[in-house]
Amino acid sequence: MTVFNPTAFRQQFPALADAGVYLDSAATTLKPQAVIDSIQQFYSLSAGTVHRSQFAAARALTERYEQARSQVARWLNAADGHQIVWTRGTTEAINLVANSWLRPRLQPGDEIVVSEAEHHANLVPWLMAAQACGARVVKWPLGADRLPDIARLPALLNGRTRLLAVSQMSNVTGGCPDIAQAIQLAHAVGAKVMVDGAQGVVHCPPDVQALDIDFYAFSGHKIYGPMGIGVLYGKAALLEEMVPWQGGGKMLTEVDFNGFTPQPVPWRFEAGTPNVAGVVGLSAALSWLGQHDRAKAESWSQQLASLAEEQLAELPGFRSFRCGHASLLAFEFTGLHHSDIVTLLAEQGIALRAGQHCAQPLLAALGVSGTLRASFAPYNNLQDVDALVRAMRSAISLLSEF
Ligand code: PMP
Repeated sequence: MTVFNPTAFRQQFPALADAGVYLDSAATTLKPQAVIDSIQQFYSLSAGTVHRSQFAAARALTERYEQARSQVARWLNAADGHQIVWTRGTTEAINLVANSWLRPRLQPGDEIVVSEAEHHANLVPWLMAAQACGARVVKWPLGADRLPDIARLPALLNGRTRLLAVSQMSNVTGGCPDIAQAIQLAHAVGAKVMVDGAQGVVHCPPDVQALDIDFYAFSGHKIYGPMGIGVLYGKAALLEEMVPWQGGGKMLTEVDFNGFTPQPVPWRFEAGTPNVAGVVGLSAALSWLGQHDRAKAESWSQQLASLAEEQLAELPGFRSFRCGHASLLAFEFTGLHHSDIVTLLAEQGIALRAGQHCAQPLLAALGVSGTLRASFAPYNNLQDVDALVRAMRSAISLLSEF
């Protein structure tokens, strides 16, 4: 394992070679050279596609593609690579569960409990399923600590609850609810649990077996991999129960005008030519990340977020929404509009995010119309914090003149 050295780590990201300051890693991480090379080599040197052709290059590609499932399984401590379904991302993985597992089971009057901290990707698919089936989405509210309030969860769960949907880490507050306890409570009433790992996976890959997670989803692009590839992990028995959602090539073994026989799991959920380059790139990202001291890297990005929070707090009207030691820092300045600030920051070369972060119910619970969000990764450095604080000071003084 390579000892974590912030400078050496940073040098592996060609996108950081220009003068800009990138503080939007919660939206998508930058890509290290190793991942870029893997995708370039794939398109330069590989021939054919997977699971279709008999020639040697295509067979080798199929093997590589299938081995990547086992690699992801090891990353999550899943028992078997066949529990890994390739998707376009977290959003598609959650929609797959909503359509293939939940909808066929959902009866009028059934309930789906969803935390108030969720990204729209882990709310809207459940609303759509509930609307289609006459079921109800029940809000699991935030507590004073801005985490879904675990003390209120037991009263929300009952024999009608089919599913609990919760994220491992919020993309706004960075808060990590006690999913182990939430899962136990949900299982006690017979409900299954969908954990959205889009933000959490890069910071703290879960042990899906120890946590007894039913479904877990993440996106490659938030863990140094390419866009357009993601993962659904499911317990084997649950995946076996699921009907295909999308139909097309290679998701079936036989078809005629009377019907079709689906492939075994996981291929029955992967209709059409897959994103092989995405799988190759994600596999390269996990291999690359596995060589680093992730605990040290994580602690470095958390320290940067803490420093930024401390220094920004010296500016008038600062209010932070950060939970604990998260490496992402959502904040506002009372009386100033987040869009005005972010525009001025962009002019100074600082890339950060402002708005509702696809989490409107969470923002409503926080009582704000939007926030700024600086999200730090291990490739950020102290100069990035300085640049952020300096640019913010000048934006605030400019806006305060009006
Ligand atoms: N959940 C969370 C917590 C996220 O942060 C995101 C991405 N912003 C998603 C889900 C959706 O991920 P994707 O757009 O890659 O499908």
